[in-house]
Amino acid sequence: MVRKLKNYIGGEWVESTTDTYTPVHNPATCEVVAEAPESTYEDMDRAVQAAQVAFEEWRRMPVLNRAQYMHHFKTLLEDRFEDISRIVVEENGKTIDEARGEVRRGIESVDYAIGMPFLMRNDGVEDISSGIDETTIRQPVGVFGAITPFNFPFMVPIWFMPTAIVCGNTYIMKPSPQTPLSMEITYEILEELDMPEGVVNLVHGGKDAAMAMMEHPGVAGVSFVGSSPVAKIIYETCSRNGKRVQAQGGAKNYIAVMPDADIAASVKNIVGAAYGCAGQRCLAAAVVVGVGDAYDKVREELINQARNLQVGYGLDETTQMGTVVSDAAKQRIENMIEQGVKEGASLDLDGRGIVVNGFEGGSFVGPTILSDVKPDMVVAKEEIFGPVLSIMRADDFEGAVDIINQSKYGNAASIFTSSGKDAREFKYRVNAGNIGVNIGVAAPSASFPFGGQKDSFFGDLHGQGPDSIEFFTERKVVIERWI
Ligand code: NAD
Repeated sequence: MVRKLKNYIGGEWVESTTDTYTPVHNPATCEVVAEAPESTYEDMDRAVQAAQVAFEEWRRMPVLNRAQYMHHFKTLLEDRFEDISRIVVEENGKTIDEARGEVRRGIESVDYAIGMPFLMRNDGVEDISSGIDETTIRQPVGVFGAITPFNFPFMVPIWFMPTAIVCGNTYIMKPSPQTPLSMEITYEILEELDMPEGVVNLVHGGKDAAMAMMEHPGVAGVSFVGSSPVAKIIYETCSRNGKRVQAQGGAKNYIAVMPDADIAASVKNIVGAAYGCAGQRCLAAAVVVGVGDAYDKVREELINQARNLQVGYGLDETTQMGTVVSDAAKQRIENMIEQGVKEGASLDLDGRGIVVNGFEGGSFVGPTILSDVKPDMVVAKEEIFGPVLSIMRADDFEGAVDIINQSKYGNAASIFTSSGKDAREFKYRVNAGNIGVNIGVAAPSASFPFGGQKDSFFGDLHGQGPDSIEFFTERKVVIERWI
């Protein structure tokens, strides 16, 4: 019997009202490890009601006390660090080291929320007019929710919830139905904190559960992370329903390598950026633009380094690249490789058909390189979200910036160079929300907003950092005269 997951609502593990369950696979072993409910409007409504009731008491609890729960949460997460990391591997397919990195980065968001007694402070002016003082205060808004993707099943959901609740809101999480187990263990840990019931809730499911959250009048705002077409739907649906919304979408991240870059060091970094998490990162390096005579050198070195990556099961400590998330993802990625070849790209390294001993049915795609990619090819324009790196040629810096700025996405872009002038021009002119200089994965820390422009982000207040405090609070202006 495969275990059926329950929702966590109002401080209790409860069965969904649905009859429909989605199997959760380990993408390396092909084992069905659990079944996740396709939760219904009724389930979401129950969670919203529990969160609304909890809000009244929770918002009155001093922020210092709310932050104390996150101190305790952090300690328990550290205690269970390895357990969580292993679950991330089992449901997502990445390597154990990548999973540990993900859990570490997730805990940083808990650290950030612990600072809320300081971060939530506001300002005021005494005697703004004679005998009149004017101040702003921050207040929590109500019930918030998150709809999150499969690729960082622990870290991405944890970007939002700690800040939201320490600001005084209550919360509902809807993780990806492909990878719901990391949130299950996280909510088991949250349960140990003995927070008032209903402050944090977990509702599994897919599109229906997401729609229920967005259409429910009791929800004040939604944070979304996922693909761009869905991000757009989320932004429009939440806006239509009068909710706050921040929707982080997909990506196609370009990396320019200048002729003056240290090629060996740059390529080592780019290989990590392209093939880490089997390319299933919204900040993954997708296209390398070799500038001038850097093109041939970078191409040769990329092939050398990428072909040596050890592909295998994520729980094997020697594995350097794990599986993609599912067979469907593998099929989609392999079709994109074929598409690149049909359009005239040169297939320098072909990751299709790779077989890993002992895991013959696993969803493995090996490191792949397509070179001579042109800006109008599908593989240059569309997100592949797998271990496929395209290489393009630009004559000079201007040409590289033109190529990058043509993209409909604007999540991240990097330059590898030893020229401060080019680096400055790059960060000044490139239209992407996270810029790397001699850094392949430009991932902001928890205290900085996670950038994203064009089709990579819909909204105005980004996730993480000070933007998140704006998103999760309402500012009220108080004008007082007592004399
Ligand atoms: P996805 O868009 O398919 O799903 C994301 C979430 O939306 C899931 O919880 C899913 O159940 C829900 N969903 C799917 N279709 C829906 C619909 N029609 N209406 C309402 N909800 C719906 O994304 P994914 O495949 O899980 O994740 C990969 C994508 O996420 C990639 O495009 C990647 O670039 C992106 N991503 C972006 C960031 C970022 O910060 N910008 C971070 C991580 C991943």
